[in-house]
Amino acid sequence: MGVRGLIKMGRIYKKTYKNVVEDFELVSTILGKNMFSVHSFYLPDGTLFDTGQHHLEKLFIKNLDKRNINQIILTHHHEDHTGNTKALLEKYNPLTPKGGREKENFKLYASQKTVPFITQGFGYPINFYQKMLFGVIPTVEEKDITTFEHLEDIHTPLYTFTPIYTPGHATDHYCFLEKNQGWLFSGDIYVGNVKIMRHNENIYEIINSLKILMQYDFDALFCAHNPRPENGKKYLQEKIDYLVNFCEDANFFHQQGYNISQIIKKMGKKEIYWVKFLTGNDVGLDFMVKHAITQKV
Ligand SMILES: [Zn+2]
Repeated sequence: MGVRGLIKMGRIYKKTYKNVVEDFELVSTILGKNMFSVHSFYLPDGTLFDTGQHHLEKLFIKNLDKRNINQIILTHHHEDHTGNTKALLEKYNPLTPKGGREKENFKLYASQKTVPFITQGFGYPINFYQKMLFGVIPTVEEKDITTFEHLEDIHTPLYTFTPIYTPGHATDHYCFLEKNQGWLFSGDIYVGNVKIMRHNENIYEIINSLKILMQYDFDALFCAHNPRPENGKKYLQEKIDYLVNFCEDANFFHQQGYNISQIIKKMGKKEIYWVKFLTGNDVGLDFMVKHAITQKV
């Protein structure tokens, strides 16, 4: 068994919130050790939010068991959110012999901004770690996608989701508010008090997006890496405060002439070097400091 074979042996944890929202946590493992996980959420009318990392395709489909999927909604293009879109589309709405799709009412929802990433590939180099942890993602065809715009409601048999444009983590990132239920499906905009960022995130856009979300009413925060089924707004406010303080501290030391690694020390923080190494320098605390001192409010 090769290294990829070892990683491919991930696992899935299942949980149900409020007796309704099913949470599939897709875990990538190395030698049985949990390395990384992402959550997909399934609702009783056959709605699935995000499709997980590609190398867990078979396990995910097995775990979905007899559930039917009628609509898939994507929060953003990242490889741990769109990896099984093609496979799920093929399984739950297969091609007919004439080249159409079996079910007309099946919908694959993605924002206009997400479309190029999932139909043509990401348009930026995929790092070794992304291939290892997530697999190379098969693209889907544009004709199979239903696009939505900011605040243009998506109606499913049981629910109404309002897409809210929330850039910063990714340029195509959307959250989805189900206001009757008090749910927010928040993709990767929350995650928690992160200690690292990708090289291409925008910390001030993230803060701004979080502030926009605070204007809405909801209680459950269905975050793709750190679900908070209750008191979601409290956690969002904590995240805003954390990032604002982080930026203020970083700029305070920057104005005194310190460089990025000195700022990290002055802030009493530590780089997580194995993450930098594993991600081929795609993710790190240094990027978070750099964003704080170079990007604009
Ligand atoms: Zn992401």
